Amino acid sequence: MFLSRLARCGLSGVLRGPARPLGSLGGCRRPQLSLAKPPPGPASVQTCGQQTMRTDPLPVTATSCRVSAVEARHEERLVEVVWEDGYRSLYPYTWLRDNCQCPDCTLQSAQARSLLLSQLDVYTGVHTAQVTDNNQVSIVWPDQHVSHFEQRWLRKRCFSPASRQAMQEELFVNERIYWGSELHFPTADFQEVLTDDKAALAWLLALRRVGMVYLRGAPSEEGQLVRLSERIGFLRMTFYGPTWRVQDKPMAVNVAYTSGDLSLHTDYPALHYTPGVQLLHCIEQAQQGGESMVVDGFHAAEVLRREDPQAFGTLSSLRADFTDVGRDYCDFMVQAKQCIIDVDCEGRVARINLNNATRDSVLDLPLQQVQEFYRALKAYSDIMNRPKNVVSYRMEPGDIVTFDNGRLLHGRKSYTSSGQRRRLLEGAYLDWDEVMSRLRILRKAVGGEC
Ligand SMILES: [Zn+2]
Repeated sequence: MFLSRLARCGLSGVLRGPARPLGSLGGCRRPQLSLAKPPPGPASVQTCGQQTMRTDPLPVTATSCRVSAVEARHEERLVEVVWEDGYRSLYPYTWLRDNCQCPDCTLQSAQARSLLLSQLDVYTGVHTAQVTDNNQVSIVWPDQHVSHFEQRWLRKRCFSPASRQAMQEELFVNERIYWGSELHFPTADFQEVLTDDKAALAWLLALRRVGMVYLRGAPSEEGQLVRLSERIGFLRMTFYGPTWRVQDKPMAVNVAYTSGDLSLHTDYPALHYTPGVQLLHCIEQAQQGGESMVVDGFHAAEVLRREDPQAFGTLSSLRADFTDVGRDYCDFMVQAKQCIIDVDCEGRVARINLNNATRDSVLDLPLQQVQEFYRALKAYSDIMNRPKNVVSYRMEPGDIVTFDNGRLLHGRKSYTSSGQRRRLLEGAYLDWDEVMSRLRILRKAVGGEC
């Protein structure tokens, strides 16, 4: 469903590296896609083993459905709206009064409620409810205040589980495509993302659903991530500055600033409010080594949940301590407590917090839980590092990877520094609130399905 939508937006894919455009994004629910811009060669697309978070197709949110009848059910204090397609929606009296769209109750210029809670009778009745000539639902309240509700507005806010789910998907794009080593990174052209709304929207949708998008064709000089961030809104500032240079540095303040191996990690779990999206721009690559790898941490967590539920329970309930101390943009002494696997109130994996370098020697656990914590951590790490779960690639100058830092774990192989050719990546962060804001605006601007 959404995969074909991505395809129509013109995203292409690569297999383990930016140099081989294949033109398809591997997914679980559609084995193969055709793209708006067909690739030069046959696409060898594979499906992945893990499903998206949702299994049932959602009903399409009605946008043009007309109201055929309205009834006020006083005993339940619900207004029933019958739509021309036969669908029935129920709206609580209190909710309707609270959301009156009239100029007295809503500040139109801000699309914000001006009605105060002190003015709201949460036990209000309804005097009359009817359909108007222009197909709005009109309600007269006992104090003779009148509310008009536009049909499309009302239908989208239907309280049925399916409608609520559809609305949440529209607002938050919660659906995820899980993947392993077979992933073909969705790719987009850097310049197109900067200048074309459809391309930018496709980038952000894939970033949300797949967790990683490769951008190609950026100039190999610093400053490109600032340009990219301005396409969204603004960069996320941290103690490493608005942008940071990943290179081999003397007296490194971070293990990333060496030429050694970097094990799979998420960035900055030492902050309670971890950066949502990471951007890495390759300006110069090492002559030897320096390959990158990524793992879908959500996929690995689901494998852990299946294979070792006790370990999953341990990592999603016990909090580890993280620390980061030093001086970069300014001096810092950061501490945070995080579950390695964050789950939401419905038990779904919501965020991964794992960085072995900044995991603190302070471990605030009861003595008898320490061994189980290490066992669980090792079990999760072993799953992540299985070859079938790791995607390896090598960045070249001008490449930018953009990925979900709360979901993907990334690492790199050691490399050899040489005087003439020093590996240099520029990095930066965005937060999901800003990214999702841009995604919604772009979707509105582009219109239609995309
Ligand atoms: Zn009103």
